[in-house]
Order: sequence, then structure tokens, then C-alpha cells
Amino acid sequence: MILWFRNDLRTHDNPALHYFLTRPNSEITRKAFFFVSEKQWIEHDWSEIKIDFIKRHANALVSELAELNIDLELVLVPDFTAQVTFLKNYCDTNKIKEVIANSELEFNEQQRDSNCLAQGIPLTLFEADVIIPKGKVLNQSGAMFKVFTPFKKAWIKYIAAHGFDYLGKVNTTDASPCNVNNVQQIENSNTSAAWPLAKEYESTALISFFKDKITEYADYRDIPSIKGTSGISPYLAAGVISPRFVLFSLLHRFPDLLLATDSKEFSWLNEIIWREFYRHLMFHEQRLCKHQCFNQKYQSLSWSNNPITFNAWCEGKTGYPLVDAAMRQLNQTGWMHNRLRMVVASFLTKHLLIDWRLGEKYFMQHLIDGDLASNNGGWQWAASTGCDAQPYFRVFNPIRQSERFDPDGSFIRKYLPELESIPAKHVHFPHQYIENQQLALYWPPIVEHKTARLQALAFYK
Ligand SMILES: Cc1cc2nc3c(=O)[nH]c(=O)nc-3n(C[C@H](O)[C@H](O)[C@H](O)COP(=O)(O)OP(=O)(O)OC[C@H]3O[C@@H](n4cnc5c(N)ncnc54)[C@H](O)[C@@H]3O)c2cc1C
Repeated sequence: MILWFRNDLRTHDNPALHYFLTRPNSEITRKAFFFVSEKQWIEHDWSEIKIDFIKRHANALVSELAELNIDLELVLVPDFTAQVTFLKNYCDTNKIKEVIANSELEFNEQQRDSNCLAQGIPLTLFEADVIIPKGKVLNQSGAMFKVFTPFKKAWIKYIAAHGFDYLGKVNTTDASPCNVNNVQQIENSNTSAAWPLAKEYESTALISFFKDKITEYADYRDIPSIKGTSGISPYLAAGVISPRFVLFSLLHRFPDLLLATDSKEFSWLNEIIWREFYRHLMFHEQRLCKHQCFNQKYQSLSWSNNPITFNAWCEGKTGYPLVDAAMRQLNQTGWMHNRLRMVVASFLTKHLLIDWRLGEKYFMQHLIDGDLASNNGGWQWAASTGCDAQPYFRVFNPIRQSERFDPDGSFIRKYLPELESIPAKHVHFPHQYIENQQLALYWPPIVEHKTARLQALAFYK
């Protein structure tokens, strides 16, 4: 028996690893693989920062598994086809009877696993990316919910009735003596160095978020100049922290949380349930992996896709300070605040009438937390083409959003130093002020809000 790591580079609450370690010694080989498939990753639009983050965790896991006397080999192969070929040869040569792994949600990954089985690779899959197994939260007709709130209620009810599996940490003291020599490491760019490894995040930032910040989450989660959110998304997206561990820790601190859905702390769990919603949805609707609108009536919208305005959006040069500061946050750090993701996605699709799929791709290519299900869900929500999306006639006013969520302009000034000297009153849309002062600091707006809004309404109608 061998172990195959994929989007689950962790020892903590890893069902495949747990199964592997609880088999009799005679059945297992103490050999594990992780495929470094850069060609495939780039085809899937993974950003450089995300790839670096994954490589750092792969390197760390090699050392951690060596302590459990498991030899994790990092195999450089270009793509999924090469992964299957490698495994087939390895299994045949070494007479492997079982390959243990955790399942992956996305269509190409599932195709790869089907190819493995078709070629006779004895693959056994567990599930490690959600709290409640996908396919278990269903409406009365036995189908997936199409609206978040009833899904959330059913999700809570399921946990109340069945609990959830949490396997905990692996006990290293039980491990057999370590025979693994030459701990292998792969090169990485260190572009993600600002994000500590999962083990450190779990024991420091996450604990202090639960202790000091979660009660204020509802008040500050929409203010991009304040660090009011958890910053856990890269870890969940890369599978290096288990969502079940997150719920376990949360309930340990707030035991009655599932009964207190109006509490401030619950508002954070609510977001974790949104993550579950989008993953369960993608499980039922695999067409979402293939660039289709959830709401098929929008499939044939003829987007303008103007390359000039698209580039201005990408580079943070739209002339709308909050949109531009947000895009520069993404370009400079590989992460963007949730409120801003909503604002820039609305601006791209509704003000510029550019296909949400171009924005979705750009996000994936730049985010450290790029995740197909959440990204697709977020983009289709903003573009009004999605499941339980915002209605098409809701068009965020980027100036009003800026006044509400960055009232003194401190977030804007952080990423647009050219607006440093503009008074708070004018920073949300500084063009008139700049003209009066005869300054030439900033880009003129690429569209006029009121006109763009009317165009969007006509377009969707
Ligand atoms: C257009 C758009 C694109 C997005 N793309 C991604 C993406 O590629 N990867 C990603 O992880 N999230 C994505 N999100 C969701 C959300 O913006 C991020 O999860 C959040 O900003 C991450 O910061 P945090 O960990 O500090 O969040 P917190 O506010 O601390 O939330 C905790 C966790 O809950 C989950 N969560 C929060 N909000 C959402 C949401 N709206 N949908 C699904 N799960 C959520 C995330 O796992 C997040 O880490 C997107 C949202 C939008 C509107």
C-alpha cells in the first residue's frame, strides 16, 4: 500500500494518512508520493505565489513524514497524464495492492482518478476538503439546495444529528524508528514567504483570531484597512489546514455556537459554510468546472470584452480609487479583501460588461488562495449568473462602496500613493478636486458610473 498526497499536504486530520497509518505494518510500504506538475498547475491558472506556497508545504511535509518513517517522494512530472503513467509503472513494478489518497473535487482531477482506475491502479479515495461529506446536505426532494440559507440550516441540522469526523493530530510517539535518509527538498521561489507555514499559522494566528478577533469579525470584516478577517483562505484552499479541524477548534472555544446563529462569532462560521456550499454545489454541478453559467439563461450574454478596459482593470487604472487600490493589493500581495473582491468583480462585469470568466481567470492567476469552487462561486455571485447570486439589477456604486468601507481613504492611500495628499472628502472620486487644483496625479475614470449602470441594466435585461 502506498500513499498519494494531492490537495492535502498535511498530517493533521488527513483521512488517507490516518487509514494508511492504522493498517498493519505488513500491508504498507511506508512510501508516499506528491507530484509537482507545474505544466498542469499553470494550465489550471495557478498563480506563482500559490505554487510557491504549495512547494513550501511539500518540503515541510517531507520532513514531517520522515519522523513517521514515511518516505515522501516529490516527483517532478508535467501533468496528470504523466502522473497516471508514473503510478501505473510504480504499482506494476512494486506489486502495489492499494493506492490511498483523498479525493479532489474538480473535473480534470476526477478524470485523472477515473483514468487511474481504468488502467488498473488500485486507488482508494477518502474525503478531506469539507466538513460534511459532499452529497449529504440535500433538500426534501433529495437534491442540492439552490439557495444558501436553507443549505446552511440543513448543514447545521446534519452536524447536530451526526456530528462530524475529526481525526486529530498524528501521534508521532507511536511511529516506528525513522529509516528515511536524504530528506528531499524541491526549489521554490519564496514569493509566499509572508505567509507562515500552516503549522505556525494554526498555533499562532488562528488561535489569536479565535481569542481576540472573532467577536469583532462582524463589525470589521468589511473594512479593508483593518485586519479583521482570519487570513485562513490560502491554507484551506491548498488543503494544508483541515476544515474539520477549524470547526473542531471553533466549537472547542464556543461549544454552543451551532445554536447561536445570531451571535457575532457565528458570522465567521457562516463564511466557512459558504465555502462548504460552493464545494457541495460544484460536486453536484460539475459543469461549473467547465466555465458554464450556473443560471443557463445567461450563457449567451454577449459581453463586450474590450481589451483596453480589461487591461485598465487588471492594472488598477480605472480611475475609481477603491477598484484600483484593490487590484493593486491583488497584484502586489497575491491576496484581496473579500469586500473588494465583490466590488472589483461587480465593476468588471457590470460597469465594463466584461465576461466574469476573464475576471475569474485573472484572480486564479494572481491569488495565493485561488480555489476553483469559491472563486467560481464568488464571480458568478457578482456577475448575477450564479447560484443564489445577487440580482442583476444590483450594481455596486464604486464611489459609495468606497465612502462606506474606506471612509477616511486609508486603504486607498496605502495602495495609491499618488492620492496621498487628497483630502478624505475627495479621495473616493478625486477627479474634480484634481482638476481644480490643476494636478495631474491620477487616471481619468474609464466609464461614468450612472451611464454604465443603465447600460448594465439594459444588457442583462
Ligand atoms: C469574486 C470573488 C472571488 C473569490 N475567490 C476566492 C478564491 O479563489 N478562494 C477563496 O478561498 N475564496 C475566494 N473568495 C471568497 C473570499 O473573498 C475569501 O475566502 C476571503 O476573502 C479570504 O479571506 P479570509 O480567509 O481572511 O476570510 P474570512 O473572512 O476570515 O473567512 C474565513 C473563510 O471562510 C471562507 N469564505 C469566506 N468568504 C467566502 C465566500 N464568499 N465564499 C466562499 N468561502 C468564503 C474562506 O475559506 C475563508 O478563508 C472570493 C470571493 C469573491 C467575491
